[in-house]
Amino acid sequence: MGKKEKILILGGTTEAAERAATLARNGHEIVTSLAGRTSEPRPVAGELRIGGFGGAEGLAEYLKCEGFDRLIDATHPFARQISKNADIAAKRAGLPLDTVTRPPWEKRPGDRWIEVDTLAAARDAIPEGARVLLALGSQHIAGFAIRRDVHFLVRMIDPPSSPLPLADYELAIARPGETTEAETALLKAHAISHIVCRNSGGPAYAKIEAARDLNLPVIMVSRP
Ligand code: NAP
Repeated sequence: MGKKEKILILGGTTEAAERAATLARNGHEIVTSLAGRTSEPRPVAGELRIGGFGGAEGLAEYLKCEGFDRLIDATHPFARQISKNADIAAKRAGLPLDTVTRPPWEKRPGDRWIEVDTLAAARDAIPEGARVLLALGSQHIAGFAIRRDVHFLVRMIDPPSSPLPLADYELAIARPGETTEAETALLKAHAISHIVCRNSGGPAYAKIEAARDLNLPVIMVSRP
């Protein structure tokens, strides 16, 4: 068996948790780092640390001071800043960097995707009077505030600390549904006409299958 390494995993994704479990099982010392966006993160194998590092410089210092052997960037594909920081910090600390890249979802027969490049374009692509499932991170909601004609069902993991800046909305405080049936039931119960989401890839795919089954359009923000 190879050398036991001390490894920092930049996480916040299912893939990061899976990688932590595998590496810990193989005897490596694992620390998973989360930004602290959710109040009750799922448990991970090994140690957990929460909060930013203070940029690439702070991350490089942390890697050196804590004696890590390797850095793994398993963050979300739309989390751009932390991935840039990881690249710079690994070089500064002289450590190998592994990047776990989640493939995007592929459009399949029956999918009605309206593909756009930005959240602003997604907002503008919503037809007047639509009822939209907004399946985005909480930090991306404010950009939709000007669509006062649209009813939003906003899915968030944690309740917001203050009212959202949307004219007409309701909240679904939950993680993404794990089955097509659960997502179909949600879409039907709220008479949703459109989904707005980003092409994250990975496990939150049940909503895409539900939209296909219900023949609903998905306004899909492409990978950066
Ligand atoms: P981001 O814009 O790329 O990062 C902003 C800042 O947050 C970073 O500069 C860093 O602060 C801190 N940060 C981000 N990820 C961190 C981590 N894993 N550990 C410690 N600090 C971290 O990131 P984001 O889009 O806000 O995503 C934050 C986290 O949520 C990531 O871990 C990501 O995997 C997870 N996540 C994101 C999404 C998404 O849609 N973006 C979806 C699901 C999960 P400092 O500069 O101070 O170090």
